[in-house]
This record gives sequence, C-alpha cells and structure tokens, in this order.
Amino acid sequence: MRAAVAAGVEYRDRTVVTADLLHALRADFVVDASGPGGYMAQQLAIPSALHRMHTHAGLLFSHFDGVRLFADVVPGLRPGPYPDDWAAVHHIIDEGWLYSLRFDHGVTSAGFLLKERAPGSPERLWHHLLHRYPTIGALFANAKPLMPLAYKPRIQHRLTRAAGTGWAMLPHAYAFVDPLFSTGIAWSLRAIERLGLLFEKEGGPTEQDLARYDAALSHEADQIDTLVAGAYHAMARFDLFAAHAMIYFAAVSFAEIRQRLQQDNAWSGFLGVGDPQLGGLPRASLRRLRHVRTPADRRSFINWVTNAIAPRNVCGLANPAAHQINALPALRGGGGV
Ligand SMILES: Cc1cc2nc3c(=O)[nH]c(=O)nc-3n(C[C@H](O)[C@H](O)[C@H](O)COP(=O)(O)OP(=O)(O)OC[C@H]3O[C@@H](n4cnc5c(N)ncnc54)[C@H](O)[C@@H]3O)c2cc1C
Repeated sequence: MRAAVAAGVEYRDRTVVTADLLHALRADFVVDASGPGGYMAQQLAIPSALHRMHTHAGLLFSHFDGVRLFADVVPGLRPGPYPDDWAAVHHIIDEGWLYSLRFDHGVTSAGFLLKERAPGSPERLWHHLLHRYPTIGALFANAKPLMPLAYKPRIQHRLTRAAGTGWAMLPHAYAFVDPLFSTGIAWSLRAIERLGLLFEKEGGPTEQDLARYDAALSHEADQIDTLVAGAYHAMARFDLFAAHAMIYFAAVSFAEIRQRLQQDNAWSGFLGVGDPQLGGLPRASLRRLRHVRTPADRRSFINWVTNAIAPRNVCGLANPAAHQINALPALRGGGGV
C-alpha cells in the first residue's frame, strides 16, 4: 500500500464505496477488490454462477486463546520438516476439515469446513466435533473463543462475469471455493500481475484483453473447484485424499520451478490450467473418485495419480517411502505440506 502511495496513488482509508460516492468520482476504469458479494456484483447485478460449483461446505469458526500445541497433545509424533504448530495446520476429518492458524502472538484462528451441518447452535456443533475427535478435543479443551463461534452455511461464491467494459474484478470478488489448498492469495497475485500488464499497454486494456482475463478466471475458478470437490470426496479415506492432493502439489511445485526458470508468464494458467499434462487432472480425478468402492479401486486410483503426475513430478511426490511428507521449497499461500 505504501509503495502504491509512493507511486502516486491517492489512497482513502476507511471509505465505503457507495453509489453516491461513485457519482462524485470519475474513473476510466474500476478494479473491484471488494471480495465476495462486493461492489460491482451489486451495482451491475451480475448473476451468480454458484450452480456451476461442485464444492459445497459450511464454515464454523472463531479466534481462540489457549490452544495447546499439537506436539504436547501427541507426544512422540514424528517431527515434520518445519515446526508444524506454527504452520497452517489442516486436520482432515470424515465430515470435512479443520484449519488452525496460530498467529505470532499466540491467538489461533480456527474453523471447521463441513460438508453437511449437524443440527444445533454453533456452540453445540463445536462441542460435538471436539468430542467426536478427541485429539482435536484435547487441543481446544481449554481454549477460549475471543469472539462468538459463528457458522456460515456455504462459503463458496461464484459470479458469471469477472470483467466488462471499464471494469475488472480481482478473483476473490469473482469467485471463492475453499481455503483447503490455500489458493486465494496466489490466485489474486496472478490476476493483479495480468491487470498490471494490461495497464502498461498504451491505451490500457482492450475489450479483447478483458475477455481474455474473464475467460482465464472462469477456467481457473472451475479448476480450483474440481480439485477441492475431489478432495472433499476423498476426505474420509486418507490414502485417497493424500493421493488426490498430490495433483495440487505437483501443479504448484512445477509452476514454482517454471517461474524460477522464467518459462512462465502472468497469463500461464493457475493450478495447471492449459497445461497438457496437468490441466485435465482435477476433473479426471473427481470423476474417478466418484467410482472408488473397493480396496482394489483405491490402489488403482493411487497408481493412476502417481502415473498421471509423473511428467510434472519435479520433487519426488507420491513416493511411499516419504510417508506423505514432502518438504517443498517456498510454496506460495499458507497451506501446510
Ligand atoms: C477461512 C478462510 C481462510 C483462508 N485461508 C487462506 C490461506 O491460507 N491462504 C490464502 O492464500 N488464502 C486464504 N483465503 C483466501 C483469502 O482470504 C483471499 O484470497 C484474500 O483475502 C483475497 O484478498 P482481496 O484483497 O481480493 O479480498 P478481501 O480480503 O476479501 O478484501 C476485500 C475488502 O474490501 C472491503 N469492501 C467490501 N465492500 C466494500 C465497499 N463497498 N467499500 C469499501 N470497501 C469494501 C471488505 O471489507 C474487505 O476488507 C482464506 C479465506 C477464508 C475465508
């Protein structure tokens, strides 16, 4: 923000953009960074495309004081390649998953993403889950919520358009799937890079440029959605979940390395979109996961993923000897590995 101001941006803190305010301003172009249910969606009455999404999850969340360290609750746990408790820890459960983000000052942001909601108040649901999963229960046994527990029935959102004449949305204003693979900020940065390039051009973005931006975000929202939906499908079977997640790790580690070798640009698709090897994998995986029934099916699914990612497996993923622990270099986003 300071860099933007230094470059001449007029920054107005704590200003709510309303229709009245916009009438008083003149702009050649509006970039909407207002997040879900944001400004342009309301002003232009952009229809929802939520029906396109396969992922369906609600969120039960708060911030807590006094969450114990996992290492204290499960002594003797094999140490990971980094201090687990200070990473974005994801606990996988049958009904969904729990994120646990411990800030430097000790407060922990935590939330259950749930495929289906059990009846009762948020407090009752929270206690039901802590009781059902005793290790998680022990972590949060003495934790105090710093704000009331809240439940949001569906966190996914998706619009039909991300750009039009004189405007463009950042990804979070356009679509959000789930924090599972921590795709949010990396995807936003990619979109900002694209818009930056369009504004560097003489005359700014053309209609064609904006159509390209819109199509890219649409494909990428679909890609994130199918990848996450497959993960939810596999969640109650850890071997399946771990195998499916390797598609994500293959896509991001390959992208990271391509970028370092400068063989990638802002328009390269996010999360393998457009890559002949990776592009179709999330959808193919979701399709296969829907038909997995027997132990033999599970083995065959794991073999399929291992072979499918092989051409892009640049860091030894899906190696049984690694016991699903891979230390990947500097992955973007906050996700644990
Ligand atoms: C539970 C959860 C966990 C997540 N975990 C991760 C993670 O681990 N890693 C990751 O990369 N991403 C994660 N994300 C996604 C990440 O939060 C988003 O990708 C990111 O916040 C998008 O940034 P943004 O600036 O585009 O939008 P936002 O952060 O949504 O900011 C939009 C801002 O605009 C303001 N606003 C709205 N309307 C108006 C108006 N009319 N006038 C003025 N201001 C307005 C809002 O108040 C808000 O401050 C997570 C998301 C959730 C919900």
